[in-house]
Amino acid sequence: MVGGRAASRCALRFGGVDSATQGALRNAEGRNQLPMNADELIEIAVEVDGEAAEAVGELFNRYNGGDWIEDSAAGEASGGGAVLESTGYDDCGNPIDGAYRLVVKTYLKPGPRGRRIQRQIEEGLWRLRLLYPIPESTVRTIQEEDWAHAWKRYYKPLRIGKRVLLAPAWEESDARPNDVVVRLDPGMAFGTGMHPTTRLCVAALEDYVHPGEPLLDIGTGSGVLSLVAAKLGARPVWATDIDPLAIRATQENAQRNGIALAPNALYVQKGSVPADQSGRFPLIVANILAEVLVGLFDAAYDNVPLVEPLAPGGHLILAGILEKKIGLVLAAAARHSLREVERKQEEDWVAVIMQSEREGGTEAAVAG
Ligand code: SAH
Repeated sequence: MVGGRAASRCALRFGGVDSATQGALRNAEGRNQLPMNADELIEIAVEVDGEAAEAVGELFNRYNGGDWIEDSAAGEASGGGAVLESTGYDDCGNPIDGAYRLVVKTYLKPGPRGRRIQRQIEEGLWRLRLLYPIPESTVRTIQEEDWAHAWKRYYKPLRIGKRVLLAPAWEESDARPNDVVVRLDPGMAFGTGMHPTTRLCVAALEDYVHPGEPLLDIGTGSGVLSLVAAKLGARPVWATDIDPLAIRATQENAQRNGIALAPNALYVQKGSVPADQSGRFPLIVANILAEVLVGLFDAAYDNVPLVEPLAPGGHLILAGILEKKIGLVLAAAARHSLREVERKQEEDWVAVIMQSEREGGTEAAVAG
């Protein structure tokens, strides 16, 4: 069976910060001005279980978080926070015993600032080991270019739910006649379908998308969920993301899949919860992270509240939630008159489907 194994790779950003990937791309754009070893990145990686993943991720975000900042003249750069990578799934996306691994990584450039941050991280890891059994970190120097493309080797066509097939843009796939096929090149944005949270959302979309009805996808990444929804018939689909690379990847993936951009099928917008769309969407999907979802509910990011664009009686698919954080999200949802209708889980990750308790037509009845 070993020959049949397909390792998958996926990276999830912790805390909504820009990823190292993004920084690496920005840096690649300025490559010509950089010194000889400018393409080298230091990768610090720690293999973890679910709980330690969070602690290590927080540590990486504390010492190497925020935007990727670089000083081209000095060949230094840091930032981007933690990247979570899981590998070792079978073709159906189930973890393979003995092969499944969870690794948290962060990236730096060599140089005095990089070395200082690396030291802080090593000290932080040492302190964490007093609380958790965390293995030694692996530090290696990699070429930015290799790193940015290496994951493609592991990205294979993936069947989800009843008929969705997510496939790499560059590879042939065996689609069946009724398959909903979405071809993706996530580029530097998140979302290949290899991560459990994306798969949970795709499965929920199969159940909740009604052809001809609008859908809002907040934190679209590669555009994966918007494209699945559009292929399932949602119209129009609105995709938003705070990351400009995600906007670009989504537009390119839409083209690749024959999904017309605004004013037809798909609106792609930089940002978060769109304003001026009050009550418009019977279905909203947001696959981000528990803390970010809570912030979106409570308008903590200078956004309109997450429920504002939700139609009365509409459904909200929320994912990116670690099992132990579901309470935070449910409490925020309850503050906004939502009730849970369904929950899906894969490994430590939960997706929850909520429904607005506001009734459709109430306002009309009052007005009448
Ligand atoms: N929807 C894709 C990607 C999920 S990753 C999938 O299911 O695979 C989460 C995405 O949310 C990232 O692209 C990140 O840039 C974006 N994001 C993070 N914080 C956000 C916020 N406050 N508003 C909108 N998007 C956000």
